[in-house]
Amino acid sequence: MRQIKVDLIEERVAQAVIDANTVLPKDVHGALQTARERETHPAARRFLQIMLENADIACRDRMALCQDCGMVVAHVKLGQEVQLIGGSLETAINRGISTGYQRGYLRKSVVRDPLARINTGDNTPAIVHISLVAGDVLQITLMPKGAGSENMGQLAMLKPSAGVEGVKEFILQVVRAAAGNPCPPVIVGVGIGGNMEKAALLAKHALLREVGRPNESPDLAELETEMLTRINASGIGVMGIGGNNTALAVNIETYPTHIACLPVAVNLGCHSTRRIKLEF
Ligand code: SF4
Repeated sequence: MRQIKVDLIEERVAQAVIDANTVLPKDVHGALQTARERETHPAARRFLQIMLENADIACRDRMALCQDCGMVVAHVKLGQEVQLIGGSLETAINRGISTGYQRGYLRKSVVRDPLARINTGDNTPAIVHISLVAGDVLQITLMPKGAGSENMGQLAMLKPSAGVEGVKEFILQVVRAAAGNPCPPVIVGVGIGGNMEKAALLAKHALLREVGRPNESPDLAELETEMLTRINASGIGVMGIGGNNTALAVNIETYPTHIACLPVAVNLGCHSTRRIKLEF
């Protein structure tokens, strides 16, 4: 049994939330550069240039990429042969977030009660998803998720007869309804299958996949390319001002489902899609 002290998790999470909020992932940065090169709309091209300059300044001066430093979603892969020592995993993650958000001067955006709306003051709690896996690995991927893009996500429980055309139409409808609100160019995370909550989780997981890495299934990879082309032809464009770059990627994840179900969820990531992976 491999032993890992939760103190170490807390310490590394504290630094990781600062890094995640100040350093745009390489793949997202690269995709913005490519978008700038192929953008035909002058104002949209200028916007893309500003987004890249913003990312470079944030990285250089260790300042937040965006004023919305998000609510942290933590995806944990925990090996069955790992023993955590000294306390609870979720407490360690939350303590790390609390320290990191204070130390990094990151905006605290979490309210304790969704109706009373009093800020918790330290950006906790995180939303933690834990998958128990074989072996002795511990992997934590942290995703500070801003509300502008999160608010534009949607879920549909389609009838199986809607088929792939129904799925395509729903994805387009969500992107059209979102327009400039999720700060495009967006990454479109799509979850198809499972049940209601599984589809939503798949869509979130889809945002963890690197931009430019297609689904391993050739059919789904083809669907991703088709949807990206159609979304970029929608004319929404960078920050909703037009042009040919509404999305940087469409990432689709699927799961088996019930014979009478066809759930589809769309979760959008903005041009400041932030994520960082910790391996222990
Ligand atoms: S959607 Fe993204 S870029 Fe826009 S305000 Fe929210 S975190 Fe910032």
